[in-house]
Amino acid sequence: MKSYRKELWFTVPTRRAFINITPQVQECLYESGIAEGLILVNAMHITASVFINDDESGLHHDYEVWLEKLAPHEPVGQYRHNRGEDNADAHLKRQIMGREVVVAVSDGQLDFGTWEQIFYGEFDGGRRKRVLVKIIGE
Ligand code: ZN
Repeated sequence: MKSYRKELWFTVPTRRAFINITPQVQECLYESGIAEGLILVNAMHITASVFINDDESGLHHDYEVWLEKLAPHEPVGQYRHNRGEDNADAHLKRQIMGREVVVAVSDGQLDFGTWEQIFYGEFDGGRRKRVLVKIIGE
């Protein structure tokens, strides 16, 4: 069995953003030389997510509105976590959007369902953060 590990780094200038990282994950898969197996992609920070969905701008706007209704950033004083920091909403948003995804690797390709793409969800940007890509298989 082969295994491959890589960290992808992101610095998002805005507080929140969704970035399609499918091309970088695909590049990792090519580098790994693995044709059959599993790929895990996870955020290594508790205020960021990795998730799979459609690369459609209307949907990403809808996520932003929905997440702000569930866990509004302001007023920051509404959260007990925000004693000395201001990112309680980012922890909550990360929880609902998820930590990681697992994708099957078949015939050297990411074995996606229709329209599936992998996204990095940033909820507390403005600093360097990383995503782990781990691939196992043959
Ligand atoms: Zn925090």
